[in-house]
Amino acid sequence: MSFDLEAGLAARRAAGLYRERRIAQSPQSPLRKFPGGELLTFCSNDYLGLANHPAVGAALVRGAQQWGVGAGASHLLAGHTAAHHALEEELADAVGRPRALLFSTGYMANQGVLGALLDRRSAVYSDQLNHASLIDAARLCQARVSVYRHGDARHLAEQLAADGAPRRLVITDGVFSMDGDLAPLVELATLARQSKAWLMVDDAHGFGVLGPGGAGSVAQAGLDGDAVPVLMGTLGKALGCFGAFVAGSEALIETLIQHARSYIYTTALPPALAEATRAALRLARAESWRREKVQALVARFRAGAGQLGLPLLESTTPIQPLIAGSAQRALAWSAHLERRGLLVPAVRPPTVPEGTARLRIVLTAAHEEAQVDRLLDALAGLPDWA
Ligand code: PMP
Repeated sequence: MSFDLEAGLAARRAAGLYRERRIAQSPQSPLRKFPGGELLTFCSNDYLGLANHPAVGAALVRGAQQWGVGAGASHLLAGHTAAHHALEEELADAVGRPRALLFSTGYMANQGVLGALLDRRSAVYSDQLNHASLIDAARLCQARVSVYRHGDARHLAEQLAADGAPRRLVITDGVFSMDGDLAPLVELATLARQSKAWLMVDDAHGFGVLGPGGAGSVAQAGLDGDAVPVLMGTLGKALGCFGAFVAGSEALIETLIQHARSYIYTTALPPALAEATRAALRLARAESWRREKVQALVARFRAGAGQLGLPLLESTTPIQPLIAGSAQRALAWSAHLERRGLLVPAVRPPTVPEGTARLRIVLTAAHEEAQVDRLLDALAGLPDWA
C-alpha cells in the first residue's frame, strides 16, 4: 500500500465521512463563540454544567499555587500526591467501593484494566455498541472476544455457556455513548455471577448523572461491588474535569497498581487537576438539582420531539440521538440547524454502525427550557426526515 494520503482523504470527503474540528473561542457553556459567530450547542458531555463552574476553576488555581503544574513523574515514582490520594478516597466513597484508582483518561483506564486482568487464555464478552476504548482494550489484551448483540442478555448467556476460559470478563457501557440507552445491568450481573465471570461497567456517561448522589448507572440498578467487581468512571464528562478512575476491591486496585501498563508507564495527572476534580465531585454529589434539571429538560425535549414525530431513539438519559441514516443526511440536518444558530454535529460511521448516522443531541443542566424549545423549533423544519 502506498502512502497516497491525499487520495484516502479525498475518498473520505466524498463519502461524507470527513471529520473536522471546530475552534471554540469561549469556555464550555450552551452558548459558545466560534469563528463564524455564536452558536447554541447541544453536543457537550458537561452534563451537570460543571466544566466552567467558578468553584472548580478556583480549586484548579489554588491547586496550582499549592502543587505547581506537572506531577513530575508517574504515580509509582514520585507523582502520587496527597491531592490524588484524597480524590481517590472521595471517588471510592462516591460509588460505594473500598478503593478507587485514578487513570489519566478513560481510554487508558479501560486498556489498563483489561491488560492487567486478562491474557490470551481469557475470554471477553462485549456488547456490540461498546465504546471504542473498550473494543481497543479487548483487542490489545489478546483475550478471545465474543461480541453479543446490543443489550441482549440472552445472546450473552449463549456465549457464556459455550465457553470455559479460566478468566471471563463481561464488559459493557453503563449508558451507551452514542445511543444513550442503559445496559440491562441486573440481567448481565446475574448471568455473570451464574457463570463465574466478572462484570465490568464503563460508566463514563452515567457517573454523576444517574443514581443517588450521581453514583451512576450501577447504583441506580441497585448493584454492589459483588455484582459489578470492576466499575470505571470518567472525570471529563459530568464532573467537567479530566481523567478517569476504576473502583473496586482492595485486591483489584492493588492488582492494577502492579500490572496496569497504562497506569504504570505514564505521568500522573497534574495534582491541581485532582483538586479541581475534588471540588467538582463535591458539587456533583451535593447539588441534586443539577440532575433533576437535566432530567426535566430531557422530558421536555422528548415530549416536544414526540409531538413532532421525530425519529428519536429510546433514551431517558441526556444523550438523545436523532437517527438520520446516511452520513449525507446527518450532515444536511446538522447544516440546517447551524444555519439557525445551533450546533449539533453529525455522528457518522465508523463511530456508529453503517446506516445509522445521527445527530447526537446532548442536554445538560446548563441549558434552559427556552433553549430546548429553540432546538425543537429548528428540528421541526428539518429537511427530509419523514
Ligand atoms: N468510555 C466511554 C463510554 C466514553 O464515552 C469515553 C469518552 N468518549 C471513554 C470511555 C474515554 O474516556 P476519556 O475521554 O476520559 O478517555
